[in-house]
Amino acid sequence: MSNCAIVGINWGDEGKGRMVDLITQDYDVVIRYQGGGNAGHTVMNEYGKFALHLLPSGIFSPGVVNILGNGVALDPESLWNEMEDVRSKGVALTPEKLKISERASLLLPWHRELDGLEEARLKDKKYGSTKQGIAPFYSDKYQKKTILAGELLYPRQLRAHLADILEWKNLTLQKVYGAPGYTMDEMMAWLEDYGEKIKPYLCNTTVFLREAQRSGKKLLFEAQLGALRDLDFGIVPYTTSSNAVAAYAPVGSGLPSARVDEVVGVVKAYSTCVGEGPFTCEWLGDEAEELRRAGNEYGAKTGRPRRVGPIDLVATRYGVEIQGATNIALTKLDVLSYMETIPVCTHYLLNGVRTDEFPFPAALPEARPVIESVPGWKCDISGARKWSDLPKAAQEYVLMIERAIGCRIGYVSVGPERDSIIIR
Ligand code: GDP
Repeated sequence: MSNCAIVGINWGDEGKGRMVDLITQDYDVVIRYQGGGNAGHTVMNEYGKFALHLLPSGIFSPGVVNILGNGVALDPESLWNEMEDVRSKGVALTPEKLKISERASLLLPWHRELDGLEEARLKDKKYGSTKQGIAPFYSDKYQKKTILAGELLYPRQLRAHLADILEWKNLTLQKVYGAPGYTMDEMMAWLEDYGEKIKPYLCNTTVFLREAQRSGKKLLFEAQLGALRDLDFGIVPYTTSSNAVAAYAPVGSGLPSARVDEVVGVVKAYSTCVGEGPFTCEWLGDEAEELRRAGNEYGAKTGRPRRVGPIDLVATRYGVEIQGATNIALTKLDVLSYMETIPVCTHYLLNGVRTDEFPFPAALPEARPVIESVPGWKCDISGARKWSDLPKAAQEYVLMIERAIGCRIGYVSVGPERDSIIIR
């Protein structure tokens, strides 16, 4: 019995979706344990191309049970739209295949609205939210002022609970932001509509996972975003509002006693970042545009052009440590094939002193990258399927990263398709 977590080592968008899609074939249960519809996993397979936001990437694999754990921000409206989209492309989604924790809290329409209102208030100091309501949702969860999905099964208690929360929430909406607020009727109508739709999928995931473990099933925990966006260990305040670290997987899944035996950390062969905040290796101008185009670096959720730069070994080493990665999947190596020489950030300079350590958030804007260049390979590597198919310079690039981050690179991805992978 061996459980595994797939996590992002950097700023997110490392290609976790494609790795989960590949690896799920060896697991029985795939679980999303944090985050919500604010990021997207892109998966390409025989059904087509999908940008998954809430659904676990295991939904395409026959026989795999998919779980949305108690740690996720459960927006029933977005989830339902995503389910309809996936179904329309021929993927069956039954309650046997998809299970939603009754302990997951609901992301309500006002969370989304508040996210937009707060970003507008912050103006040029905004955090770069995707405005999916995630930060207001998690704040309310920790204040115990939102609704558990399982309450949908208790209509009388639900109405009373909603009335209490609505009164409190309208105070904030109206008095702080001057917004109109919500009525009981509109909120109940929304809850009844989407509640009916997701009810069949609700279950006690703790019991389900316990039994799954007892019968020797293998669990795969799927994270959203990356270590540098983790609420506790990331670049605060430009983080997400949940814990994207592997250590949170057992808690957010519903089985706190579960062991995570293997942590596959996904690293992109160069750096990308969506949203605001310090990004030490950032390229601007033509160099950036060329890399962005080569890697098609536009946000899966928003279509925003991603900020890009060379691989950052300081940030990546930190991400590996925070995630406790035991194996690395290096993605998008093929994107670098156009470069004559490949720049690499090996260290930072902080107040003129060379450092290996990822700085504290307040010090990070002062950090300057130390860049070295290594030879490129200048040929198409997207057809490589074995380590020996890679040109020497590409092998050297991978080995250089492996040495610098102190963790074995077991997978090298050279294209978005399921089989465009080298397993070392
Ligand atoms: P995630 O949130 O970590 O799953 O990452 P995204 O879905 O935002 O970004 C990954 C993007 O890169 C998707 O469009 C993938 O299809 C694509 N992709 C993943 N691995 C590779 C690869 O090795 N090469 C190329 N060219 N594209 C890849």
